[in-house]
Amino acid sequence: MNDGAAPAGVRVGVLALQGGFAAHAAILDGLGADVSEVRTPDDLVGLDALVMPGGESTVMSLGIVREGLADPIVRFADTHPVLATCAGMIMLDRDHLGVLDITTQRNAFGRQVKSFETDLAWGGDTVHAVFIRAPWVSEWGAAVDVLAEVDGHPVAVRQGAITALAFHPELSGERRFHDVLIAQATGSRNWSS
Ligand code: GLN
Repeated sequence: MNDGAAPAGVRVGVLALQGGFAAHAAILDGLGADVSEVRTPDDLVGLDALVMPGGESTVMSLGIVREGLADPIVRFADTHPVLATCAGMIMLDRDHLGVLDITTQRNAFGRQVKSFETDLAWGGDTVHAVFIRAPWVSEWGAAVDVLAEVDGHPVAVRQGAITALAFHPELSGERRFHDVLIAQATGSRNWSS
């Protein structure tokens, strides 16, 4: 566990076309990162890491295409750490940007169960997770590590420096994922699962 402040000058962008970007920005700011909102390809220049927030994947997808952000995000993710939550996870899958070798199923927990909270087993630890009309990962390739599951379905995955969560750490006061992102961006890891 680590609650340390970010080294000065770590620049983290939050995709801000749509959805819950403000809560991510607040956490990153609280951890000492230099946070900026990403709406155009130029906004990615000079960043050390990127957060893809939750929201509505259909709308977010249209915005990414409209702003010409698809290729720039894919190129960015090739060389920088990325943390994606919920709709952000969907954006990274094979059917969208193809950054992660996963297929996601939208609204996978059913219409009745639009939202729920649960404690996920995470290594020897626990992560309190808020799910809001969440996806799960329905297929994944060999390069993908499954980090946590609900009912046998992956809800957290990592491939290289890209981490995707079906839930919303930014809504439960969970700061460790952002802390890890900042640590990845500065070239060191200080919380491993
Ligand atoms: N259900 C949304 C979608 O499919 C995702 C929900 C979220 O990001 N909280 O895009």
